[in-house]
Amino acid sequence: MKDVAREAGVALGTVSKVVNGIPVGEEYRLRVESAIEKLNYRVSSYARGLRSSKTYTIAVMVPNLISPFFSRLVDCINRELSARKYRMLFYATDYDPAQEQELVHLAEQQKVDGIICLSYNPHLQVSPDVPLVSIDRYFGAQIPCVASDNYGGGGIYNSYTLSMTKHRYFRPVVVHEFGHSFGGLGDEYFYDDQYTQFYYPDAEPWEQNLTTLKDFGSKWADMVPKGTPIPTPATKKYAATVGAFEGGGYQSKGVYRPAQECRMKINDWPEFCPVCQRAIERLVEFYCPKK
Ligand SMILES: [Zn+2]
Repeated sequence: MKDVAREAGVALGTVSKVVNGIPVGEEYRLRVESAIEKLNYRVSSYARGLRSSKTYTIAVMVPNLISPFFSRLVDCINRELSARKYRMLFYATDYDPAQEQELVHLAEQQKVDGIICLSYNPHLQVSPDVPLVSIDRYFGAQIPCVASDNYGGGGIYNSYTLSMTKHRYFRPVVVHEFGHSFGGLGDEYFYDDQYTQFYYPDAEPWEQNLTTLKDFGSKWADMVPKGTPIPTPATKKYAATVGAFEGGGYQSKGVYRPAQECRMKINDWPEFCPVCQRAIERLVEFYCPKK
């Protein structure tokens, strides 16, 4: 490092600052960088770590690298880290909450400077000493979250692509996608043949037309006629009743929908169910308040 300082004609402290990514004057930085290049000087991140008790290592956790979204994301993160002289420690979690938790502990043991993760574990435990940035998952006000608008965005994308085509489902699907993009409504359909865990059974979904019954009072409990059983049987007797019918959010179990049929369930249904209608009306009122 002394050689670099001599070559650049700057103090040793200035070289140290540049190497550790601490801002210095532009001219000094350029001089140090060209001296480093000229002398082919290699900074050991371990040696850097000794001096600052940092490891210059960031753990990055996503489910896999097969999905184009994840691979692109990891590639961008890696490039940004490299530019800042950080190394990436990559973990693939395979959507497995237990494995995620194990990898977080492993990353902590390896004394990483921070963790960037796309988690599928709502109860992820992270030591408060290790800064964590969450991708697309909200863990509360203490943890920074970088999110893409994939929910409403997906609805807008679908409406747009449909409007470019002549499809017999154009109108009904646009209305359904409008339910997503404007109303923030969830899909009320589900798959019989599979039990897919898209929602956490012990947390209330944010969508106004889906519930896990965890906090049903905050949803449409007030619209359910007295004496209606919950879960509400999907029978003729309750065909026109607002209730809590099992099946919604792609899951056949654990998530409940407000009505037997709704535009958020099937395209052939002529209207939104009363709960979806109320959610949309509330948003209209929010955006266009009555004076
Ligand atoms: Zn509905």
